[in-house]
Amino acid sequence: MLKRTARIDEHSAAPATLTARGVDSRVRGPVNTPVQRASTILYDDVIEYENRHKGFYDRVIYGLYGTENSFALAADVAALEGGGQAVITASGTAAIALSLTSCLRAGDHILVADCVYGSTRRFCDEMLRRFGVEVEYFDPLMGTRLESRFRPNTKALFLESPGSHTFEMSDVPALAALARKHGALTLMDNTWATPLLFRPLDAGVDISIQSASKYFSGHSDVMLGTVTVRTAELYERVKDTVGRFGDHASPDDCYLVHRGLRTLDVRLRRHEANALKLIEWLQTRPEVMRVLAPVVPTDPGHAIWKRDYSGMCGLFGVLLQPQYEAVRRTLFSDLRVFRIGSSWGGFESLMVPAAPAPVRHHRPAPNDGFLIRIHAGLEDVSDMIADLAAALDRARRELG
Ligand SMILES: *Cc1c(COP(=O)(O)O)cnc(C)c1O
Repeated sequence: MLKRTARIDEHSAAPATLTARGVDSRVRGPVNTPVQRASTILYDDVIEYENRHKGFYDRVIYGLYGTENSFALAADVAALEGGGQAVITASGTAAIALSLTSCLRAGDHILVADCVYGSTRRFCDEMLRRFGVEVEYFDPLMGTRLESRFRPNTKALFLESPGSHTFEMSDVPALAALARKHGALTLMDNTWATPLLFRPLDAGVDISIQSASKYFSGHSDVMLGTVTVRTAELYERVKDTVGRFGDHASPDDCYLVHRGLRTLDVRLRRHEANALKLIEWLQTRPEVMRVLAPVVPTDPGHAIWKRDYSGMCGLFGVLLQPQYEAVRRTLFSDLRVFRIGSSWGGFESLMVPAAPAPVRHHRPAPNDGFLIRIHAGLEDVSDMIADLAAALDRARRELG
């Protein structure tokens, strides 16, 4: 019933040819860029020293402004994103905050999808507003009717598709074209898909953002973010902002995320296969009202997903019958494979009650049932199904 519409490898010409900058496969030496920890960089020529800032973020001039590890990772991230230039930040949250700060000034207006990640919303509400930016949220399902919301001072459009917790799909190419027509930049948080399943820059987005703490790292133990921009002018703006805020991507963490990237493609295929089997099984269970995932043919976002995305990751929502909220302690106890935890993208399966920002204005999360979020990990899917079956049975018995 749930069929993949395209294979991931149809979309991923770049990853097969990844080579780290600075590592020439024909020379003797380690495969991966060795960890280079640095603050001070020494020079043997005083003129070269005086000119060091000409290489700001392009070569190693001071630990804060990048090491061989952050540059090697940035080069491969840009290759995965299909072009442009990347800057590595300390976290996904920093990537979002610094991207927004790079694009906006007092008096500007920004349109933000109502379904964005909670910290994105808090940054807009608490920081951008404090610095005089007008923030307006819009219904992610309003499509190109969004055009009426653009104003002369609209300088940015922020998208996240599918939406956090609620998985609404946006028509990214159409919305990015609208923004361009009105002289605004489009930023997109693409953490769910990664550039292997959807490439924002190809769809007209100007700034593509990843929380590298999720699938890029893949092992639930690193914080890092990436910002990939379309033009040299944006690259200058973003790296200046990142530098001015003193945001630092640790070389050890860059090394780990770079290592994670090597297996991103094979991991994503397994996450997807497991998620598809879980979704199919969940749809047969009487406790389940609806699965929130664009892969489901009856999902409102299915047509867009099928047109634009080459697959799904392991993350989706499940709307249970409302009475299961009262027995959630039982539902979530004695789990053997699934764990309770929020930051997904690692090898382990996770299950949590969904927590979309309660302040959504336009499209609140479904409230006719009990919404949970599942991350399908890399375990054996029959073990995962057995674990969920036991949990649902326990909860149903408690309800009597
Ligand atoms: C986790 C996440 C972030 C924040 O990333 P951190 O690396 O945790 O700071 C941003 N957007 C989305 C969609 C995320 O899932």
